[in-house]
Amino acid sequence: MTGLGRAGNALRVMLDAALDLALPRLCAVGREPVDGQGLCPACWSKLSFITRPYCGRLGIPFVYDPGPGILSMEAIADPPAYHRARAAVRFDEISRALVHALKYGDPLDLAPMMGRWISQAGRELLAEADALVPVPLHWRRLWTRRFNQSAMLAAAVSAASGVPVTTEALKRVKATGQQVGLSRTERAANVQGAFRVPPAGKPVVAGRRLVLVDDVLTSGATVDGCARALLRAGAANVDVLIFARVADPVRTSI
Ligand SMILES: [Zn+2]
Repeated sequence: MTGLGRAGNALRVMLDAALDLALPRLCAVGREPVDGQGLCPACWSKLSFITRPYCGRLGIPFVYDPGPGILSMEAIADPPAYHRARAAVRFDEISRALVHALKYGDPLDLAPMMGRWISQAGRELLAEADALVPVPLHWRRLWTRRFNQSAMLAAAVSAASGVPVTTEALKRVKATGQQVGLSRTERAANVQGAFRVPPAGKPVVAGRRLVLVDDVLTSGATVDGCARALLRAGAANVDVLIFARVADPVRTSI
């Protein structure tokens, strides 16, 4: 585990102790009181976990099971730069509220739970991974938001899986602004050249099997931009782990 993970855990233990004495916990989605977990059973039961069968490349659920090894039309027609992506849940009202709570609410409470779900969804990928790479925020956004939610999730996935986090691998060299409301092509153009492996990051990238971690995937342009930068710097493999992804069911390639 990295220094970030250890510091996060120590901080969490301290805050947990303080919170247990002070306040009843509230469900991150519905704000009703809960015991411990950060999400009440009713909201938990409404979360849409992504399960097989799904496209082995994109991790998007199939409408029906095409059998092992069959990829989606999308993966074949327009293959991403990364190798494989997996997400814990579909992006919907409930997961949106959780992501919002992680960003603006109480991340120390939610991150370990979300990290465990992501680790479950990405078991295969994590088994082969050398390191986790959180999608970096531009320093200006990091400064206004105080912390990077992708780094929080990566630390939580690291705690659950034992795969270390590296924060030196990738820098965001261009503030990309909001991706919301942009077309697929516009999103790709928006992240063009936004990510770079700095000289200090080369040794932790070259020849390594890396897993990018982010909170939400919509078009995939951001993680694709990150994967391109890592592969250009010599990464042996780049996979992607996401908490919530937009996942309209895909058609099979046959
Ligand atoms: Zn609730």
